[in-house]
Amino acid sequence: MPKSRLFTPGPTPVPEETLLELAKPVTYHRTSEQKAALAEVIENLKYVYQTTNDVIVLTSSGTGGMEAAVSNVLAPGQKAILLTAGRWGERWRGVMKGFGINIVAVEVPYGKAVQPAQLEAALAEHPDTVAVFSTLSETSTGVGHDIEAFGKIVAKTNALLVVDGISGLGAMECHTDKWNVDILVTGSQKALMLPPGLAYVSVSPKAWKVIEGNKASKTFYFDLKRYKAKLPEFDTPFTPANTLIKAQLVSLRKIKAEGIENLWARHNKMGAAARAAVAAMGLELFAERPNSGLTVIKVPAGIDGNDLLKNLEKKYGYKLANGQDDMKGKIWRLSHMGYVDAFDVIGAISALELALLDAGFKLEAGAGVAAAQKALAAK
Ligand SMILES: *Cc1c(COP(=O)(O)O)cnc(C)c1O
Repeated sequence: MPKSRLFTPGPTPVPEETLLELAKPVTYHRTSEQKAALAEVIENLKYVYQTTNDVIVLTSSGTGGMEAAVSNVLAPGQKAILLTAGRWGERWRGVMKGFGINIVAVEVPYGKAVQPAQLEAALAEHPDTVAVFSTLSETSTGVGHDIEAFGKIVAKTNALLVVDGISGLGAMECHTDKWNVDILVTGSQKALMLPPGLAYVSVSPKAWKVIEGNKASKTFYFDLKRYKAKLPEFDTPFTPANTLIKAQLVSLRKIKAEGIENLWARHNKMGAAARAAVAAMGLELFAERPNSGLTVIKVPAGIDGNDLLKNLEKKYGYKLANGQDDMKGKIWRLSHMGYVDAFDVIGAISALELALLDAGFKLEAGAGVAAAQKALAAK
């Protein structure tokens, strides 16, 4: 019986001290203790975001935060540029379609990254764009986007830059303010070391102006103005997932104690180790611009990608993620974001080697592990 080990890019493992917080009895939510917890959660989120903007806490999965961004910023018929490089860019499209937004799509194939020049050209062609929607870490392909470059381009215009940072924030370097990100959405179950259930949305002063001027917004639950009105007293307009908020505080304190630069460096190390291992095993990366929150591997010729993942889980206890939709069976996604260290990555590489050997793939046992260790030992 192998131990179960979770290596999917959401949900991710949760630290023991956070799990203990989650085991405590449920409390009432309109108390000074709860307000103090929310206040500290928001303060620590601002640290992770590297922002002085407001950060709104929503009880929803990450997509709820995306829906909040779209529905507050845009009125039906208004124009938005969508930068899409995979399934999560397509999630933006799905939300925008639901709200009748006029979408100008800048698309690149799965595995590629949208180039800043493409955004520049689209903005020049569409000066009436209200907002640009992009993705920090495209979790379906492993690509990380150059949000800093996007921010420089969008900041010169009246448009807002809205970023899905759901699997990126807390795993990749991200400076919300310095990079001119107007709205950044994230979720609790990726790099922030909590189970699913909370979404976070940062809103810049430039974005608040657009939101407050948008009289056509129809959203009720996700009306960000309602949340803003409650912010000064650290309260929420509706019943929040208060037990999750208290648990998020425990995980955020852990991040704060590590320090954000150290956290980025840890993820960069784990990403470098995983990528070195992939090459040494004779495999290929899927992303042209890989980010360090997860490593996406092409299934090699002659191997059944679905069967290998099943064996990896059943025989070795390692749960990796398959490709989504059309990518199923073609890629494997190994997450190393959040509560993960170098030895977790080494274990996952070792298990992957064993599963590949079981499947008849030609490989020198230990080649990936050795390469990972060398990458970890590199100064
Ligand atoms: C996981 C993920 C989402 C979806 O979030 P839900 O919590 O499932 O709603 C959106 N975008 C990215 C980049 C993700 O990784």
